[in-house]
Amino acid sequence: MVAVTSPTERRELLRTVYDEAMGCVRCPLSETRTTVVFGAGNANADLMFIGEAPGANEDKQGLPFVGQAGKLLDKLLEEIGMARSDVFVANVLKCRPPGNRDPHPAEIEACQEYLWRQVELIEPTVICTLGNFSTKLLRGDPTGISRLHGAPEVRTVGARAVRLYPLFHPAAALYTPRMLETLRTDFQRLPEVLALGPPGQPDRADAIAGDLLGPIPELEAEGSPPPAMPEPAAQLGLF
Ligand code: URA
Repeated sequence: MVAVTSPTERRELLRTVYDEAMGCVRCPLSETRTTVVFGAGNANADLMFIGEAPGANEDKQGLPFVGQAGKLLDKLLEEIGMARSDVFVANVLKCRPPGNRDPHPAEIEACQEYLWRQVELIEPTVICTLGNFSTKLLRGDPTGISRLHGAPEVRTVGARAVRLYPLFHPAAALYTPRMLETLRTDFQRLPEVLALGPPGQPDRADAIAGDLLGPIPELEAEGSPPPAMPEPAAQLGLF
């Protein structure tokens, strides 16, 4: 694997992944979608959110989390002093399952490479999985969100070690006040999780892009934090 380090280079490569995804016919969802919802936000974000799949509004607009669940996500971000422009938001599936049914395993399988490439190129420090589908996919384990939410852990995703911070899905919290309370409490801890900085990276030779290598021991952040990026945050999704 070629090491890509410059934010500009990573953003350009992300753009090529976007172009590829826009014409994707890897699964039958390509026949029923209106638009591919690639993901949107800051292509150089430290924080990435991964939801499940586009809903009706997202399918129309081509952007993730633009409906009620998205409004809640915006509110929770605002409460911790952040905005969409600080983060990158994507989904496990890039196309809407008809009637908002659950993603099928074959669809996840067909789509996941886009997600691994997004993680590889955005290089987030913290990934918040939203709900069961993204949590199970990124952890490579069937443990449900109710047992995992609010507990950060270091995981390898593709070739990168990240701090995985599972959260309840905002759509589920919309209708369940206790879940909303828990989601808000977990959200309030996000700044602390981000402040931990990047986890130590695995030996690249041991990490295979696209493979989930399972938990690795919590490591102290090594050395100094990454240098400040030389350009303003690039916005993807509206690009
Ligand atoms: N729910 C999701 O999981 N993703 C979206 O983009 C919108 C709603």
